[in-house]
Amino acid sequence: MKYNFRYGWWEKIYYPELIRGFYITSRHFFSNLWKWITGRKGAYTYQYPEEKRPISPNFRGKHYLVLKEDGTPKCVACYMCATNCPAQCIHIVAGEDPNRPEEKYPVEFTIDISRCIFCGYCVEACPKDAIRMTYDYHLADYTREALLYKKEKLLHWIETELDKDQPLIGR
Ligand code: SF4
Ligand code: SF4
Repeated sequence: MKYNFRYGWWEKIYYPELIRGFYITSRHFFSNLWKWITGRKGAYTYQYPEEKRPISPNFRGKHYLVLKEDGTPKCVACYMCATNCPAQCIHIVAGEDPNRPEEKYPVEFTIDISRCIFCGYCVEACPKDAIRMTYDYHLADYTREALLYKKEKLLHWIETELDKDQPLIGR
């Protein structure tokens, strides 16, 4: 792609823009320094990962599948979440529950977390409250396969320190 920048004489002489840049940077620096000296909150850099920002109660992170008291998934493989997912990243294969032939269960349930946009529509759409979202935002991984969250991973999700202070019920 060819860019056709046209600079005016003001940009071409270079120094006024350079001085303007210095002025803006200095203004931010001294205003934050003044706030820091007077004990007010200025711009602040969190020293991640030692320091973490407080998370909003409305934050939507990784998903998990809810278990019933007998240890089986609450999910009845109705496809409501997959149908409502705008990113089409939920893949379900339904099977008949041998103990309760009137009910289905997910033989496979996979979320491609690399495509998920964390809209929460799947949670809203679920009639069984079988899928919820945590506060965990640690998503980076080394392979695309690792970003396919399979049923076992979603069912046996481990609470992280990010979830400890927040109520997960009904999310
Ligand atoms: S949060 Fe949104 S994009 Fe992600 S799986 Fe649920 S419905 Fe799909
Ligand atoms: S998680 Fe909920 S909406 Fe999705 S298939 Fe299971 S029961 Fe249906």
